[in-house]
Amino acid sequence: MASARCPRCLLRPEGCLCPRLPAVATRARLTLLQHARDARRPSNTGRLLAALCPGAEVLPYGLPGDALDIPALAASPGAVLLFPKDEAPELSPDDFAPGPPPRILLPDGSWPQGARLSRKLMRAGARARRLPPGPPGRYRLRDSGSPLRVCTLEAAARALAALGEAEAAALLLSSFEMWVDAHLAMRRGGANR
Ligand SMILES: [Zn+2]
Repeated sequence: MASARCPRCLLRPEGCLCPRLPAVATRARLTLLQHARDARRPSNTGRLLAALCPGAEVLPYGLPGDALDIPALAASPGAVLLFPKDEAPELSPDDFAPGPPPRILLPDGSWPQGARLSRKLMRAGARARRLPPGPPGRYRLRDSGSPLRVCTLEAAARALAALGEAEAAALLLSSFEMWVDAHLAMRRGGANR
């Protein structure tokens, strides 16, 4: 039987990190497109991102009768979709008109789930952008298949840094590091399967 976990940080109650997680305010509007099945996995970093950023918006997909409004998301003024392929231009502050906060669409889930959703959004006209180059990912809970692939939380942090929100990005990454360490410690203890 699956053991009980904190619904927010996804760690076992005895290791719950919630009291130590900061609330990270961002100027950019983060819209997390969260695959319903992946969101239940303890190693899902989209849920951690939502726990850290009270202003983030979480839209589920991947359920029967999927309620995601792809055309509306694709046409959202000033929105860009993060897409990890060279064919997309690099994210830049110049992608956004001055005034309203940028909106970042972040597909969450496995790589194939995220890629399928991204293609749907791009077919509907979404502007796709890749992240600027950066250090290899520090997500040590899943094998992404490449050090160049970063998880959802790291992608959000790197996008924020690229848009000038270095402080929020650093806060996300330090919390993420603590969270990964806590997961690994529990796995070593045999308690976090
Ligand atoms: Zn917790």
